[in-house]
Amino acid sequence: METTQTTKPEANTLDRIEVWELRRKRYFDATYTSGEISWPSGGLVAHVEVSTSKNPNIELSYTLKGQNGDVKDINYRLRLATSPCYFGGRRWWIVCQCGRRIGVLYRGDNYFRCRHCYSLTYRSRNEKKSLRSNPLFRTLNDVLRISNLKDKIKREVYGGEPTNNQRELNLLYAKLLLTTLPLSDNIKRG
Ligand SMILES: [Zn+2]
Repeated sequence: METTQTTKPEANTLDRIEVWELRRKRYFDATYTSGEISWPSGGLVAHVEVSTSKNPNIELSYTLKGQNGDVKDINYRLRLATSPCYFGGRRWWIVCQCGRRIGVLYRGDNYFRCRHCYSLTYRSRNEKKSLRSNPLFRTLNDVLRISNLKDKIKREVYGGEPTNNQRELNLLYAKLLLTTLPLSDNIKRG
């Protein structure tokens, strides 16, 4: 399946849907919510419908324009799942078509899918493919996510509660503590 192309899309250059962002916009606070997400870079606008009652799911509808001017209407649903949150409450996930519960979907081609489906990684071009199966690789991705979150977090606490980003950061720290990689980073204690 390896082609001769020398560059693979970098995750951070693609249109993406992030669960924490949906949560921030209160998509999960009612049994049914609809809205629009837009990505300024490519001009894409998606209609989003979130249903949190029985068989929770997210439905995405958008129109893609090809380079030769053709137009493609895309519409599909993905399941939603929850897990208990470390700080109480529950945490939402989107279930990718591959079955993984994930927090970020990328539009690698026509559809939003997880980075595994699109083989999106933060690796350099020279790294071997087998690296992806290494547990350490997941750990390194978590370290990168921590680094990204730390850049993003402007407030650690709001109204006496950790902000959503801070919660995610705390969870990543907790997860990393369970791995074998020694951390040189500081652990936040609340
Ligand atoms: Zn996937």
